[in-house]
Order: sequence, then structure tokens, then C-alpha cells
Amino acid sequence: MIRMGCRNVADSVIERIRKETEVFVAKGNRAPSLAVVLVGNDSASETYVRKKKEACESLGFLHFQYTFDEDVKEERILSLIDELNCNDDVDAILVQLPLPKHIDEKKIIERISPEKDADGFSPVNMGRLLIGEDAFVPCTPNGIMEILRYYSIPTAGKKAVVIGRSNIVGKPMAAILMQRGVDATVTVCNTKTPDLKKETIDADIVIVATGHPGTIDSSYIKDGAAVIDVGVNRVEDSSRPKGFRLTGDVDYHSFENRDVMITPVPGGVGLMTVAMLMANTLKAAERRRG
Ligand code: NAP
Repeated sequence: MIRMGCRNVADSVIERIRKETEVFVAKGNRAPSLAVVLVGNDSASETYVRKKKEACESLGFLHFQYTFDEDVKEERILSLIDELNCNDDVDAILVQLPLPKHIDEKKIIERISPEKDADGFSPVNMGRLLIGEDAFVPCTPNGIMEILRYYSIPTAGKKAVVIGRSNIVGKPMAAILMQRGVDATVTVCNTKTPDLKKETIDADIVIVATGHPGTIDSSYIKDGAAVIDVGVNRVEDSSRPKGFRLTGDVDYHSFENRDVMITPVPGGVGLMTVAMLMANTLKAAERRRG
């Protein structure tokens, strides 16, 4: 088994952004800026938001955070997004998901200007991605492409299987893999797929984003394949200081004696997401100021 750790991959992306930002600022532009909206006090969301802030600070990006109580009215978030859309000091906007049930996520995402859509979740950016136009690409699948490139995993002419069809991971992942220039042959699986193993067993690349630990083990994968584990699941573990440990959607240890490349959890895909958010923030700033 070859463990595809992603710290170096994320660091190389951050270094690229740092250099590009220096050039951008040297031309007289203000540093790129990101506005982050956080609702409620979900501890995982708070952690993600803190990491995004730290990444902004490390790159010298401006960072604005708007924090609301769990019971904030949807209208308040919508009017904040309207303000941020018009605010010239803001290049990119991110609303941390998930939102409380009384707030319509779809409505919030659609309200963000497509030109400031740091997550790339708006219908305009999703549509642009699908038809192969320049777009803000969702951070997690975009980060997975960086991992494939870093580890020299070819995609052209290869069979890729994506397990999961969410709007934030599975669908954009499939859209990227099928693009001209990437040129994979793509299969997308869901809970109604009758025989998952039949789909994965001859795949060259398997991307697992189900939200369920142990969705696949090594018996689903052929020798020489690459497995990307997107899952981030908290599993109770009283031996850990926080009372839980993180695990992916793949039974990682079953791959130990196999000729397979695999991303670990933690230390894998999760490290890429923040780096790609920074890339989208810089891209938004560059686009807005030429
Ligand atoms: P989601 O919205 O819950 O979607 C899960 C998808 O997986 C659904 O399409 C579901 O099918 C499918 N699925 C579930 N069990 C399956 C099975 N046994 N066989 C085939 N398909 C199955 O989840 P998500 O938001 O995409 O997230 C997936 C995982 O990635 C989670 O663990 C999440 O925490 C993690 N994640 C990590 C990052 C990161 O930065 N590392 C970012 C985003 C998400 P149906 O459509 O039929 O229900």
C-alpha cells in the first residue's frame, strides 16, 4: 500500500498561491479578501471556520467573519449576503454548511454572487463547470485533482468510479473527471447501485464520498488502483482526549498488504479543501481586479 499523505500536496498549493498573491499585490492590488458566515455553534463547523481564518492570515488575505446564533432569521443572512455582494472590499464569500433546518441552504447559496462564490456551489458555477467553462470549482473535488496530479496518477483513458452523488463532492467530482483534458471514463454510484463491487473492481481510480465508514474495503479494489477517501466521520473513542477519532469512508487497514495507493484520514483530502478555498479566493480577487 502506498499512503498518499496530503500535507505536502496542500503545502505546495499554498506556496503557489503565496507566490501568485505576491505578484498580484506587487501590481498595486489590495490583498484578496474572504467573508465567512457562520451560523450556530456546531463544533465541526467552528473548527473548519477557524482553519479557514488561519489560512487567510498565513497568506496575508483579509478575512471578515460574521457569526450568528442558531435561531437567526433566514432574511438576516440573505440581507448580509446582499451587502457582501455589493461590498468592494469583499472578493469572495463563503457560508459555512450545514445551516440550521429553518434556513433554506439552496436559497442562501443561490443568493451569493457567482463572481464571489468561493465554494463554487452556486448553480451558475456548477453549470459552467459542467459545460467546461472557466468556473469556481468546489474545493474538495478540485483538491482531489491536485492530489492525483501530485502523485502522478493518470486520468486520461482510465476508469474512475465516484461513490456518492452529493452536490458538493460526488457530482462536481464526476463533472471534472469527464472534462476534455481530464478524459476519464466515469461511473457515479449511489445507494441504489445494485452491486457496488461490480462497479469498483475494475476501476483505476475510486473516489469514496458516502459519509459511511467502511463503505468499501480492499476486496472492492484491483491491484494498481488509486483510492481517494473523502469521508470525515467522527467515531466514538473514549481513549481519545476529545472522546472521538476521525475515520474515512474506506476500511483503510484492509489495504495494508495491497498494491494500492490510498489517501489516509486524517491527513488526506481534508487538508486540501482549505488550500483550494484560498485558491478560489485569489481567483475571485484576480478576476475582479483584472
Ligand atoms: P452526502 O450529501 O450525505 O452524500 C452521500 C452520498 O453517498 C449520497 O449520494 C448517497 O447516495 C451515497 N451513498 C451513501 N452510502 C452509499 C453506499 N453504501 N453505496 C453507494 N452510495 C452511497 O455526503 P457528502 O456531503 O458528499 O459527504 C460525503 C463524505 O465526505 C462525508 O463523510 C463528509 O464528511 C465528507 N466530506 C469531506 C470533505 C473534506 O474536505 N474532506 C468535504 C466534504 C465532505 P444517495 O444519493 O442514494 O443517498
